[in-house]
Amino acid sequence: MLIYYCSQHERLLDRQRSAWIDFSLEKMKKIKDLYAFFFPSANPKFSDYRIIETRCDECAQIGRQT
Ligand SMILES: [Zn+2]
Repeated sequence: MLIYYCSQHERLLDRQRSAWIDFSLEKMKKIKDLYAFFFPSANPKFSDYRIIETRCDECAQIGRQT
């Protein structure tokens, strides 16, 4: 599972709705902790969980302004 996240603006991509939502770094850390707790890396079924650092809609807006 791939998770697309912009840590600069703390925005998470909701791929089902193709929408960006506010999601704090603190929440991301909690989810990582939860995930590590429930699905330790020893379980190969869930080892493809990755967070992809990417540009969000706000990054794109800044790009257009300059
Ligand atoms: Zn951004």
